[in-house]
Amino acid sequence: MMEQKSNHTNLDGVHLPPIEIKNLSVTYRTEPALWNIDLSFPEGKLIAIVGPNGAGKSTLIKAVMGLVPITAGKVSIYGKQYSKQRNKVAYVPQRGSVDWDFPTDALDVVEMGLYGKLGWLRRPNSQTREKARDCLTKVGLGDYADRQIGQLSGGQQQRVFVARALAQDPQIYLMDEPLNGVDAVTEETILSILEDLRKEGKTIVMVHHDLQTVDKYFDWVVMLNRSLISAGPIKEVFTKENLDIAYQEKQRVSLQ
Ligand code: ADP
Ligand code: MG
Repeated sequence: MMEQKSNHTNLDGVHLPPIEIKNLSVTYRTEPALWNIDLSFPEGKLIAIVGPNGAGKSTLIKAVMGLVPITAGKVSIYGKQYSKQRNKVAYVPQRGSVDWDFPTDALDVVEMGLYGKLGWLRRPNSQTREKARDCLTKVGLGDYADRQIGQLSGGQQQRVFVARALAQDPQIYLMDEPLNGVDAVTEETILSILEDLRKEGKTIVMVHHDLQTVDKYFDWVVMLNRSLISAGPIKEVFTKENLDIAYQEKQRVSLQ
C-alpha cells in the first residue's frame, strides 16, 4: 500500500507533528506524576513508552487526551488542542481499567467507538454495524460479534478494543499496554494490524511492558520515569545507560 502522509502543515507549509508536548507536568495530589515533559512524536512510526511501574506512562497517554488535569504545559495534536482533533485520535485503555461486567456484546463495544464520529443526533445504522463487523473480522473475532464482552478471554477482549479503535479510523492510536498478558495469537494479530497501520502512515503510541521486544517491534521509544529520560529512534536511545537511569535510579524529580 502507498504511504499516505497526513498532510498536516501550518500556514508556512511546515509539517506538524501528530503529538507535541511542551513542559507538561501532571500532579494528582501532592507529588508530580509527570514532570516537565518536552516531547514531539514523529509521524508514521510505532512508538513504545517504557518505564517502571508508576513512571507516569498511563498518565502521559491520558494527558494527551485531557483525561487528567494538567498542572502545567501544553499538548497539541497536529498543532491544535485535542478537543478540536478528537476524531483523529483513538484510545485503547489498559484492560484492567474497564468494567467487563457491563452487559454488552462485542459488536456493540466496537460500534460505540463510532458514536463520536456520528454526532449525538445520528443513530447507529446498518452502515456503522457493517463497519464494526468488518473491524471485528480484522482482529479475528468475526464469529464473536454477539458474545457478551465479559465472556471473552482477556486476549479477545483486548482485540475487541483494538477493533473499536480501528473503526474510528484515526490518524493516531494511543494504546495502554495492549499486549500485556495476552495470548500469542492476540499478540501476533495486534502486531500485524499495527504494522499495516504504520504502512498507511498512522502514528501508534503504545505503553509497552516487555523490554525484550522493544527493539523488535518498535521504531521509536520514549523512556519515562516521571521526567523524560530519553526519546528517539530505538538504535539511538534504547541503551543500557538509559535503561539504568529509567529503571534503577530513584525517581528523578527535582522540585526546585
Ligand atoms: P504507569 O502507567 O507508568 O504505571 P501511572 O501513570 O498509572 O503510571 O501513575 C503514575 C503515578 O500517579 C503513580 O504514582 C500513581 O499511583 C499515580 N496516579 C495515577 N492515577 C492517579 C489518580 N487518578 N489519582 C491519584 N494518583 C494517581
Ligand atoms: Mg499504566
